[in-house]
Amino acid sequence: METVIMASGNKKKVAELSAILREFGMDVKSKDEAGFGHIDPIEDGETYEENSLKKAKEIMEASGFITLADDSGLEVEYLDGAPGIYSARFAGDDCDYDKNNEKLLSLLEGVPDEKRRAKFVTVITVVFPADNGAGNEAERVLVARGECPGHIVSELAGEGGFGYDPVFMPDGYDKTFAQLGTEVKNKISHRARAIQNLIEQLKEIY
Ligand code: IMP
Repeated sequence: METVIMASGNKKKVAELSAILREFGMDVKSKDEAGFGHIDPIEDGETYEENSLKKAKEIMEASGFITLADDSGLEVEYLDGAPGIYSARFAGDDCDYDKNNEKLLSLLEGVPDEKRRAKFVTVITVVFPADNGAGNEAERVLVARGECPGHIVSELAGEGGFGYDPVFMPDGYDKTFAQLGTEVKNKISHRARAIQNLIEQLKEIY
């Protein structure tokens, strides 16, 4: 098994990817498990691609292992794509999920349904060191993007999930991510689609 570090401390994300990448002979460890928890790259890029590349590259360079990082956000058309890469701290530095949702709903107050289009986006970047198991001599980078289109509802609905799940209704469903539950969400989400895209790219290499 080849060790792959995930540049995240989120155990759910690590477990999800670990189950999938095992089939490619990859043993996914969180950066803490791998002993690189002290490296905390600053996410100061302007795109998900820049941020995920920065996180993956810094940890790959420190560890010498294949490293994978993800970056996600919610883009609302009426707000010109905000909160986007600032999704985690939309309502300020000491905000939480409730405050972010409150801010989003208040900015969209009175906005009709057809103008409430939004999408979740995830970008996963994998950085392979030079001369690793994938046979590449030079450093190699894979970038996988996944998007989930939908709209922002007018009031919070559902208890499940996290973040903006109670305000986001994906296309083709009449429930929010928070009402749909993990099983359905994990089939159609931006993260699931990015992982699917990553798998397709890995199949071409391995
Ligand atoms: P991260 O890059 O995966 O940490 O995501 C950044 C922020 O985007 C999170 O703090 C959430 O506010 C939001 N977000 C990302 N993915 C989801 C999701 O699946 N549901 C709800 N909110 C999400």
